Amino acid sequence: MRIPLIAGNWKMNTTVAEAEKLASSLRDSLDKIDGIEKVLCPPIISLTTLSKVLQGSSVKLGAQNMYFEARGAYTGEISPLMLKGLVEFVILGHSERRSYFAETDELVNKKVQAALDFKLKPILCVGERLEENEAGKTEQVITRQLEGDLANIEPSIDLVIAYEPIWAIGTGKAADGITAATTIKFIRDTLANLWNSDIAQEVRLLYGGSVTSNNIAEFVSQPEIDGALVGGASLKADEFSSIVGQSAAIKKLRSDA
Ligand code: PEP
Repeated sequence: MRIPLIAGNWKMNTTVAEAEKLASSLRDSLDKIDGIEKVLCPPIISLTTLSKVLQGSSVKLGAQNMYFEARGAYTGEISPLMLKGLVEFVILGHSERRSYFAETDELVNKKVQAALDFKLKPILCVGERLEENEAGKTEQVITRQLEGDLANIEPSIDLVIAYEPIWAIGTGKAADGITAATTIKFIRDTLANLWNSDIAQEVRLLYGGSVTSNNIAEFVSQPEIDGALVGGASLKADEFSSIVGQSAAIKKLRSDA
């Protein structure tokens, strides 16, 4: 039984004061929704404040990135040791990190390993560019990413994978539910080959890319899709609460059926 999960990636948005206000309002609405994991990934500078805001709440925290070393001369970086105890999740290999900060599969692989070593749950992002999609190379790209990002990593049910087609991120052009589910099924099959089918059945697979309260139902009604990684829409309390509420209700209906 995979517990559904909705994570909000706030990216480089919100001052500490704004983050505190948004998290307080989300805490009140999200605590009323159960049967689903709710994760906020604010900028790192707001994590300490938000951990206080969310004390005693069912809402969890995630980081948007981290380095793989525990400590040392890596100016500007944040380590898994620093995140441990503060967050449960960490987004790794987001396409914005890969494209603007030149993160390679080799680097992402070290980060995934470090996260698991420190008992943090990686939300590993994979997905193809528009031209790769149009050239029919989606599966090829995803296979390459998964093989690289998970090389030599022991199977773990703490891993979460977000399928985020790059052409859908922040564009308002989401994939359709069936296409997303087909690719996500491909990710589960690939994971079964890389690891084993028992673990692959347990790992949660999310869709990400222009998810809103208007289209979330299309994704979470697909049995293969365990939830969503939400960017822009996670910055609006009503919108994000609606996404979480709809997801919990739809997944509950499916599990009761
Ligand atoms: C993301 O940043 O992971 C994302 C999916 O963004 P958006 O929902 O804004 O497309």
